[in-house]
Amino acid sequence: MFVHLLPEEIRRLISAGEVIENPADCVKELVENSLDAQAKRVEVEIVKGGKRYISVKDDGLGIHPEDIDKVILEHATSKIRSVEDLSHLQTYGFRGEALSSIAKVSRMVISSRFYTEDKGRNIKVEGGIVKEKKTVGMPVGTRVEVFDLFYNLPARLKFLRSEDTERSRVIKIFKEYAIARPDVHLLLVSNGKELYNLPPVEDPRQRLSHMFGVPFEEFSHEDTFVRLRFFLSVHSIKGEVHTFVNSRPIYNKNLNEFVRKIAGYKKVAVCSMELPPYAVDFNVHPKKREVKIYRERKLLQAIANILRKPTSVSLLKQPFEGYRPEPVLMGILDDTVAIARVGDFLYFFDIHLLLERLNYEAGMDESRACRLAHKSGGMLEKEELSKLLKTLMDFSNPEVCPHGRPIYYKIYLGDIYKKLGRSF
Ligand code: ADP
Ligand code: MG
Repeated sequence: MFVHLLPEEIRRLISAGEVIENPADCVKELVENSLDAQAKRVEVEIVKGGKRYISVKDDGLGIHPEDIDKVILEHATSKIRSVEDLSHLQTYGFRGEALSSIAKVSRMVISSRFYTEDKGRNIKVEGGIVKEKKTVGMPVGTRVEVFDLFYNLPARLKFLRSEDTERSRVIKIFKEYAIARPDVHLLLVSNGKELYNLPPVEDPRQRLSHMFGVPFEEFSHEDTFVRLRFFLSVHSIKGEVHTFVNSRPIYNKNLNEFVRKIAGYKKVAVCSMELPPYAVDFNVHPKKREVKIYRERKLLQAIANILRKPTSVSLLKQPFEGYRPEPVLMGILDDTVAIARVGDFLYFFDIHLLLERLNYEAGMDESRACRLAHKSGGMLEKEELSKLLKTLMDFSNPEVCPHGRPIYYKIYLGDIYKKLGRSF
């Protein structure tokens, strides 16, 4: 009486609305498609936070003219053919549902020139139906334009947030891929204004510096299970954590919180992992973002290790800030200053203040610590000094002496190399 089955047409709209919820979802899918097509340059443009217009243009392989109206069909993909293919995926996409979903809930224009062709094809799609087809002159590659997302799905349209919120979601997604793929030239334009123009670079640290405006240091680790590259901003800025598995941005709550703690809440931390396919389950979340990682503990330990922290698992529960690579003593200047390399920095320690602080930590009062530091200053052996530096750097706040004077001055090695005209 009251129960009836929804017509096919409505069912499809609803399921499309589940795959694509907002402009950022479109941008994510379109950028992934461009990267899957081996693009070296991807240009993202949005108007009104993507609610009015989204364009993703690439210089990838293009879509074959005979395929162009197939790509908007459900389960249309060139990326897998069989169930076996699923277990060794090299591409971001494989479900063949992104373009069909977006096409159903928007007005879409796809223009593409396949790399073996000398002309491109262009189709106009409305609500999933091809309205127009033509041949066009264009460079090799693909451009997908999405106008008026959810124009035919008012219930979804209502759930879109303000222009500012939708724009920041798009920026967030864009940044993830910009970090994941420093080898690709990525641009983001919003309401005609260029927000990011990131030329391709070899070293991910350069990409990160371009994006965040501060230098980054790298820590790495490799064993039979994982290849890990960890990047940390040298200066404290707005704290952010980004994690990737096999160049795919992922979210894993434990991992994120752990990285946040270990890196400090004001640093930008990027944790990029290469794991064997069996070690990650991307299917926990339909949007492939929340992933389950097998042997997660082992991974967290590896992260703690490269940042030279004790590796016991109980440590995972303790909130601690900062990490400190071990100091390597390079020399002593005028019996006064110890020069040591710590990670990517050259440190200049005031030996007197160092001793004062260590004596103070050993339980002495300020003035005794100071007197003792005076006595022992000149007679320190290098080996002894090395040990003392290590002890100091293990403190959570090694920066100051008991009187509050700075114990060391440090210079980023990258800056020195830059002065010498070398890359670091
Ligand atoms: P999937 O990425 O899961 O295969 P999509 O719906 O995202 O599914 O895309 C469908 C197909 O359209 C892809 O498999 C690919 O063949 C083609 N395609 C989509 N975008 C591009 C692009 N930017 N360049 C080349 N081919 C594309
Ligand atoms: Mg795709």
